Amino acid sequence: MTTSRRKSPQAPADGVAVPADGVAVPADGVGVPAAVAPLRDRAAEAALFLDYDGTLAPIVDEPADARPVPGVPEILARLGERLAVVAVVSGRPVAYLEEALGRPSGVHLAGLYGVEEIDVDGTLRRDAAAEQWRGTVADATAVLLRDAPAGAEVEPKGLSVAVHWRRASPAAAGEAQQAVAAVAARTGLVAQPGRMSVELRPPVGADKGTVVERLGAGRPVVGCFGDDVGDVPAFEAVLAFRHAGATAVTVAVVDTESPPELVALADVVVAGAEAAVALLEAVAAG
Ligand SMILES: [Mg+2]
Repeated sequence: MTTSRRKSPQAPADGVAVPADGVAVPADGVGVPAAVAPLRDRAAEAALFLDYDGTLAPIVDEPADARPVPGVPEILARLGERLAVVAVVSGRPVAYLEEALGRPSGVHLAGLYGVEEIDVDGTLRRDAAAEQWRGTVADATAVLLRDAPAGAEVEPKGLSVAVHWRRASPAAAGEAQQAVAAVAARTGLVAQPGRMSVELRPPVGADKGTVVERLGAGRPVVGCFGDDVGDVPAFEAVLAFRHAGATAVTVAVVDTESPPELVALADVVVAGAEAAVALLEAVAAG
């Protein structure tokens, strides 16, 4: 079972502004907004990129407890049948994504911000440059497991390590951030901020934007759903395709913690993972 400290994780954030030309989708859904309709109506030409935590799975106190909204694997498989490209692009390891989602037919899994991927044919690929940092990441993980304050959680991910402070006191949260910054400075690993968390990653230049650039290239219709600052490069890559002539849509999945820099890049704002998945189901239904 999943739990969430917040009473209504689907509720849109007070003060989160929908862009002037944007569309807001409430938690109970309102059908498919016009900006999203090309993903449904031109599916065979479309590439769709989906974040996992906060987008396909509600945010929970314990990262290990995160589970996809019911029906997500089946919806992904339907999307994979209809669309040219469907990719789940996450900070999680691909092995985690595979366990949580299965391996939906026609769906590409990109983990650790594109450092490791499982292609639609099942091929596992890891970034060779990032692989050279595995020992450094292991050392950093050991230091953080030793030094992280009570209440902070260290999540080893193989080629990266995340520290979460959702359940920590404000003082412990500050200590956790200092511990991560010290390890980053000493090791050369780069810090990727997230929701009540920060992650240390190899400095290899891969991010969600590079995944979108690579898999979205040449697709006339491109879309992305995301909820966090790590999704900003993916949104920027989608918007670059728009500037190059593609039909593009960015969908921010928001709650009370949503980063304004992501919302500012969104064409459509959806209130929470359940509403995001309902919208995806409508796209999948054709
Ligand atoms: Mg997310």
